[in-house]
Amino acid sequence: MKRRKFLKTASVLTTMIGNMTELKGLEKLVDDMPLSEKMPLLFIGHGSPMNAIEDNEFTQGMKQVAHTLSLPKAILCISAHWYIKGTKVTAMQQPKTIHDFHGFSQELYKQQYPASGHPELANETRELLLPTQVGKDLDWGLDHGSWSVLKHLYPNADVPVFQLSIDATKGAEYHFKLAQKLQSLRNKGVLIIGSGNIIHNLRLVDWPNFNKDNHGFDWAIEAREWVNKNIENRNFKSLYEYQKQGKAMQLAVPTPDHYLPLIYTLGLAGVNEEIKLFNDKLQAGSLSMTSLKIG
Ligand code: ZN
Repeated sequence: MKRRKFLKTASVLTTMIGNMTELKGLEKLVDDMPLSEKMPLLFIGHGSPMNAIEDNEFTQGMKQVAHTLSLPKAILCISAHWYIKGTKVTAMQQPKTIHDFHGFSQELYKQQYPASGHPELANETRELLLPTQVGKDLDWGLDHGSWSVLKHLYPNADVPVFQLSIDATKGAEYHFKLAQKLQSLRNKGVLIIGSGNIIHNLRLVDWPNFNKDNHGFDWAIEAREWVNKNIENRNFKSLYEYQKQGKAMQLAVPTPDHYLPLIYTLGLAGVNEEIKLFNDKLQAGSLSMTSLKIG
């Protein structure tokens, strides 16, 4: 029986016999029960911050994938927008919504994502990553790499969320291996989401053609094909050694911040787990929205 169904049944039974203490006890019991199913993994191409408040094919794709998942106990986000020196995990009870962008509409600045944090799981994450020293962060919160996609995945903000920073001083292979240490969180109902963009060259964005369907420059088309082929063949080593590739990948990943969340997701992929691509389109010449569900 799934946790949610079990709780619901317990709730109905307890209402019938009118004993709330008993329900609390059952909730605790269910909370401590290991999950029989492993949570899948997501990598989401988040694109423009405006996706947070728009209804378009990409946000529809995010909504659809959320419907295929059972309700997580918590979400761990690895966002391109928390790219700092060192590794930290947010450990506050109530993370604030960070509007870390400039020049967008007032409506976007008004957005809030009031999910609670999960200090216990944050502490557990720090322990799992040892001997890497992971700072306990009480200042950050949820940047738009997290909340702009969570708005579509879990619009009610009813699942606790915590973030892990990306250490900007380390290379992709380091991140691939660090991610593997987070594996056991998946068995505890934690949905791990990498949020970035595989192809992300803001300097070359074709602004006048931003909404043209699946619009990519030749090098972006080549980079997308190369990345997708290596995902399909599970050649993750090539993907974390992307800097050995030619011009197309250099243009696709001019800085590692938006690419590394993909590397975290791939680092956690089990050998036999199915990988499905969605929102697999290019945008504005030099961006891709390609997203993955693993497991
Ligand atoms: Zn971004």
